[in-house]
Amino acid sequence: MSDRTPPPTTRHLLVRGCDVLRVPVTGECDVLPAQDIVVADGVIVDVRPTGADRPAERGAEVVDGRGLLALPGLVNAHTHSPMVLMRGAAEDVTVEGWFNDRVWPMESNLTAEDVRAGARLACAEMIRSGVTTFADHYFFPEEIAAAVAETGLRADLAPTYFSSGGRRALDATVAFAEAWHGGADGRVTVSLGPHAPYTVDDKDLRTLSDHARRLGVRMHIHAAEHLEQTESSLERRGITPVRVLHETGVLDAGALIAHGCGIVEEDLPLLGEYAGTTAVACCPKVYLKHALSPLTPVRELLAAGVTVAVGTDGAAGHNTLDVWEALRLVALTQKQAVRDATWMTVSDTLRLAVRGGARALGLQDRIGALEPGMRADIVLTDLSGPHCRPLHDPRAALVYSARASDVRTVVVDGRVLMRDGRLLTVDEPALLAEADARVARVLDTSHGKAVQHYDP
Ligand SMILES: [Zn+2]
Repeated sequence: MSDRTPPPTTRHLLVRGCDVLRVPVTGECDVLPAQDIVVADGVIVDVRPTGADRPAERGAEVVDGRGLLALPGLVNAHTHSPMVLMRGAAEDVTVEGWFNDRVWPMESNLTAEDVRAGARLACAEMIRSGVTTFADHYFFPEEIAAAVAETGLRADLAPTYFSSGGRRALDATVAFAEAWHGGADGRVTVSLGPHAPYTVDDKDLRTLSDHARRLGVRMHIHAAEHLEQTESSLERRGITPVRVLHETGVLDAGALIAHGCGIVEEDLPLLGEYAGTTAVACCPKVYLKHALSPLTPVRELLAAGVTVAVGTDGAAGHNTLDVWEALRLVALTQKQAVRDATWMTVSDTLRLAVRGGARALGLQDRIGALEPGMRADIVLTDLSGPHCRPLHDPRAALVYSARASDVRTVVVDGRVLMRDGRLLTVDEPALLAEADARVARVLDTSHGKAVQHYDP
């Protein structure tokens, strides 16, 4: 090595003086007061009582965390990010009406440029609300990957696939996984995304499962979304949607199942067999809006060892990509569903939203906790507002009082994406103007076309 070769530089970040939420794998969460979080090259190397810099850390970028609570970044375990363009455009309708009269006709209008604008708007919304990782399922995934690369977030991207798309669409899905898995400095991972067992035939599910195993990626699929789908599957083919996933190799490849409200007792041993690589994303706001019952059987799934995570679903149903709202609704609806106020405690709820999300995406070795060795995905929240005070229990404040707007600073992979409420990787006014300009065309369904017909 010549003398002129610069020494390898280590990018240091020091979050100074913050309280730190610890989310253990089991048991109660707790708060360590007044800590420094030391980050080198995107990885947390130390969490220690605040004090003087050490020589190796001099020159580090410093974030003043005093008076703020640091928590692991929230994970949105199921969404369709570009659907923010359809926010509020499909209200007060049944599930059938939502798909057949509103969403699938609108989606037939989408261009790559629309998806690009929608994904960037979604990224801005998620950074603002402390979501550092999201599991997405949508069309034009290259545009979403570009938005993730540009804005600095972390995401697992599944290209939505319908059997009606044919061989070309299937090949494109696999090509996307080959091109982008591990992309954006490792912040992008890919899952294969057959839409659902009622829109993708068994042969294609098998082919995609084989590709997933070959590529070492997972599957992200809607299944047993509600009980009517399970009943219809039993009636039409004699087996539940979960058994379809088993018979076509989807469970064996490792699956993130969206919703699962129609998972029935006979499915549990099957899911339990694959518990290490199976997760269910619970998105309660959309079940409440569509008047669906029962909800995701969270207690039974956890008892079977299956990972449960928190999602919003797309904003055409959920209206926001706010995981605070989603995790609060998980706690509230689960208590009500099992009629037990002592169940789904604040610690358990926070665990689902961070560790559960990480596990659901197969990223449990990288994210989900603020501990040495983990990637530095850090959210600093300000719980000093009147809606959080007096602050008897910060964990309860996070679950039941905090708002997305209490998030002050967001770090992903050691890079500051929002500092004291200011987005650093997004030109917000330009982005909002572009999204607004696209909406009228996206919402026009007078052509009578649709990407699919809902008849599960
Ligand atoms: Zn969905």
